[in-house]
Amino acid sequence: MAARKSKPRLAVWKFASCDGCQLSLLDCEDEFLAVTDAVEVAYFMEATRGRISGRYDVSLVEGSITTAHDAERIQEVRRRSDVLITIGACATAGGIQALRNFADVKEFTSVVYARPDYIETLGTSTPIAQHVPVDFELRGCPISKHQLVEVITAFLAGRRPVTPAHSTCIECKLRGNVCVMVAHGTPCLGPVTHAGCGALCPAYDRGCYGCFGPKETPNAKSLSHWLADLGMEKKDLRRVYRTFNADTPDFRKESERHGA
Ligand code: SF4
Ligand code: SF4
Repeated sequence: MAARKSKPRLAVWKFASCDGCQLSLLDCEDEFLAVTDAVEVAYFMEATRGRISGRYDVSLVEGSITTAHDAERIQEVRRRSDVLITIGACATAGGIQALRNFADVKEFTSVVYARPDYIETLGTSTPIAQHVPVDFELRGCPISKHQLVEVITAFLAGRRPVTPAHSTCIECKLRGNVCVMVAHGTPCLGPVTHAGCGALCPAYDRGCYGCFGPKETPNAKSLSHWLADLGMEKKDLRRVYRTFNADTPDFRKESERHGA
């Protein structure tokens, strides 16, 4: 009788983050059960008691690097992983905690914590790809569970994941939404934002605030002219790009055009 082939081993790792992207994986429910049929979930602190051991065929990494310990830990994760996929705005762009990259982190900790001397943290929050080679980056805050299932199954099947690089505007039109910017003068970052959410916010008459980060080659300078015509002042234009993906080069550059 032929020996039974063992299942590929999947690990899920957490760094500085809110856990929302890991929850997206659990939120897959039926699809996640199908994934667990195909893989061994060998390490996933949020869902199992497994210990770190051996190598992993696929590692999903959530969170950014904000401490010296995490900067070491990610090297260990990389060494143990055949494929390393980063998930979410923290892991792919430094997350909202990258706002510290524009300021003095010591000033922040002195305001937030009663005993800031207990806090050991780096002056920056950086994406995983700045520390180790990454095989694929899945964007979003949080990520789309449909895209996550697509990425996991694609890597297990040995093919490239199908995750469109176009803007939220394209998804918005495909969904048949009325454009909130054109119809109601509501500021919207859809033209510069990576697809993935299915244009969720405009579907509910709200402007997009860019939680999936910049799309490929965004023309943020042009969008800023539109936003200024809608009444956004310089300080608003500086801040509108500084949310979950503030330290991505495209959003950072456009934000800094409107002041430091
Ligand atoms: S509502 Fe926003 S995302 Fe939709 S088409 Fe208009 S600008 Fe683009
Ligand atoms: S429309 Fe924009 S802000 Fe809303 S979920 Fe999608 S990417 Fe995020």
